This record gives sequence, structure tokens and C-alpha cells, in this order.
Amino acid sequence: MTQEVSSQVLDALLAAAAGAHPRECCGILLGEGGAITSAIRTDNIHARPESHFEIDPQALVDAYRAARSGGPQVLGYYHSHPDGLARPSATDEAMATGQGLVWAIIAAGRVTFWREGDAGFTPLPYEVSPR
Ligand SMILES: [Zn+2]
Repeated sequence: MTQEVSSQVLDALLAAAAGAHPRECCGILLGEGGAITSAIRTDNIHARPESHFEIDPQALVDAYRAARSGGPQVLGYYHSHPDGLARPSATDEAMATGQGLVWAIIAAGRVTFWREGDAGFTPLPYEVSPR
């Protein structure tokens, strides 16, 4: 299945990565089904944000609560690799929940999407939608 991503979300992710450099940015991807329609930027509360990320847990609680009361669904997370590769790192593999969430990774000036599964991450092709 091809993921749909709005061009606004792609722009926001690239801007978040550039703004956080040399630290990792992170946040939450929202949408419905196969379409990512918005993203929430959250604080990176990890003690070593130059090489790790940890999404502010309160932001996650708020996002899941909003989803339960009719808001957009939590489809996954994003973070950047300030000087790393545009693919999941060993740390990311260890953090994956296996729940089928989408991970966006921003590196080298582009955004890549991945789906986590029981066997690790698989590349997720995507199409840009105008809104
Ligand atoms: Zn990573």
C-alpha cells in the first residue's frame, strides 16, 4: 500500500529537522488510514538529543486522547538523523513496537517513510498529496 502524505507535512518535517539541527527533532504523525494529513512537533526529551530521540510522553497522551474523541488518528512518529543516514538506525530497530506504526525519518534533506513490523522496518513508498 502506498502512503499518502500532504506536502504541508513534508515541508513541516524538513523545517523541524533543520530547526533542531544538530539535535534530533521528533514528533507525531496524524491522519486517517493511508493518509498522513498533519504532524505535531514535540520536545525531544532524551538526555542525548544529538543522537537519540524520545517524544514528550505528555504529547503522546494528548494525541491519543484527541484521537479517541474523534480527532485524527495517531499513525506514527517522526524524527531526524542530523548527520546520519536516511534509514532506521540500530537504536530505532530496538525501539520499534511492532504495532505497524509509520516512522518518518528526515536525513540529508529528505524525508523517508518506514513501516515497523515483526521483522523490523520496511520502506514505505509514498505519494505527495497537495494538501
Ligand atoms: Zn533514528
